[in-house]
Amino acid sequence: MNAKPIDLRELSKEEVISLVAELGEKPYRAAQVWEWLWKTHASSIEAMSNLSKDFRAKLAERAVLRPLVVVEEQKSTDGTIKCAFRTWDGHVVEGVLIPTEKRITACVSSQIGCSLDCDFCATGKLKRVRNLSAGEIVDQVVQIARLAEKYLKRPLTNIVYMGMGEPLLNYTNTMRSAERINAEDGLGMSYRRITVSTAGLAKQIRQLGDDGAKFNLALSLHAATDEKRSSMMPINDSNNIEELVAALRHYTRLTRKNVTFEYILFRDLNDSLEDARDLVRICSKVDAKVNLIEYNPTDDGRFQRTPIEKALQFQNYLESKGITTRIRRSRGRDIDAACGQLANKNEPAVASGERVMKPVR
Ligand code: SAH
Repeated sequence: MNAKPIDLRELSKEEVISLVAELGEKPYRAAQVWEWLWKTHASSIEAMSNLSKDFRAKLAERAVLRPLVVVEEQKSTDGTIKCAFRTWDGHVVEGVLIPTEKRITACVSSQIGCSLDCDFCATGKLKRVRNLSAGEIVDQVVQIARLAEKYLKRPLTNIVYMGMGEPLLNYTNTMRSAERINAEDGLGMSYRRITVSTAGLAKQIRQLGDDGAKFNLALSLHAATDEKRSSMMPINDSNNIEELVAALRHYTRLTRKNVTFEYILFRDLNDSLEDARDLVRICSKVDAKVNLIEYNPTDDGRFQRTPIEKALQFQNYLESKGITTRIRRSRGRDIDAACGQLANKNEPAVASGERVMKPVR
């Protein structure tokens, strides 16, 4: 009898307008519903208090709201806070609040688990369960913004899609969520403050160019030859460096934006001057800057961190060739909140949906 309920946040504005009309309500009600969904972030239809009880009841018969619930907060000694969120269907994803002097960054997940299996990343060890909806991605931002307000009394300045999952394998919801984060009738944050990070999918990078994506793009390069890159990132077998470079050139030409290469420095693996030279060669083909990333251990002894002196040499070499290069120090490592460490470690049973956690109050 009952069809599958409509997830309200899966609807476009036009679809909300027609649903409201179908339920026999005046058109301005649609604007109110939209505001509850994307501006006020109501956690239930019941909470939409300026709608009549009757309308709320009719709406609840047809549709549902599926917000994320914070089930755990962990604080690092460096101020980083990791948040575990429970989804409506009982899975857990993680998001991170990263405060520095200049920035307050929210790092959000795009999928439950990940299918890419990069050797150095703990999330890659979880299997991919499903994509997060645009609403679920935005929820992480909203909840992390609340934590920033609560603990730091400061608003978020940046959003990075660098949590669990591969955003470009959840292309539509990545685009939609960024649009909602940016929109005036959403969170109102400039696209310049939003960065999407990809392990490197040539087809989708081209698509970003075709779609005129306005957020910043970061590509997890981590090695400057196919041999090295394939040895740590299986995705390189089907999306090699040459294809990525061609896709990035297409993207930069159409968007007139540059890109950031993320490059984790692994001791004795990709941190020699020859590696730096290979990287310069790639940078000569794409308008790019480089972020050198400190490796965060993920229990596998294969990779080690490059000593800081060597990292500085690597940086100096790139800089001497005119490439803007920053070293990104790792944050939140003591609570496994740093890049590549998100793996629902505390709650493996919840990660697999076997157990459900209570919300944090
Ligand atoms: N799938 C996307 C986004 C998630 S990872 C991507 O691959 O870009 C976000 C960043 O953290 C990526 O640059 C990723 O390569 C990096 N990362 C993964 N594991 C890491 C680790 N153990 N130490 C440091 N950075 C890591």
